[in-house]
Amino acid sequence: MASTSKFDDFVACPYNKAHIVLRGRLTKHLVRCSRNAENLNKLLTCPFNENHRFDAQQLQAHIKICPERASLERQAQKDEQPAVDAPATQMLIECEEDWDNEPDVPTYNPSAYCEENLVIRSSGLHGQSKSVRRNFRAQERRRFAEKQ
Ligand SMILES: [Zn+2]
Ligand SMILES: [Zn+2]
Repeated sequence: MASTSKFDDFVACPYNKAHIVLRGRLTKHLVRCSRNAENLNKLLTCPFNENHRFDAQQLQAHIKICPERASLERQAQKDEQPAVDAPATQMLIECEEDWDNEPDVPTYNPSAYCEENLVIRSSGLHGQSKSVRRNFRAQERRRFAEKQ
């Protein structure tokens, strides 16, 4: 098949292979075609090019090899600012609780600074005896001391 004229640049509609569309018209066609009741939500759109439409399974495979993605990534690399040597944002909220000043009796104070942390760490101890909990707290104190 000779392809000498630009009019040979036809593509098959992903919704219906019987729709042969000029490549330049595909975007418009897809918008129209995707509104057809039978096509509604049938195909997912490639995040890199709205003309790339696939069913969910094919899209997974397509995204890995999408030519648009490759060019987008090249573009992004080009646009990228030179890396600023900023320290990583410290997201961790340090525990201010002083275990040594704590009464030895387990207390429940919902407003305590580290309550969330404590609840997560000790949630497995729920319903355990006092001595088990005290043991746990002693362990925690040691753990905390080691961090100093
Ligand atoms: Zn179509
Ligand atoms: Zn694509």
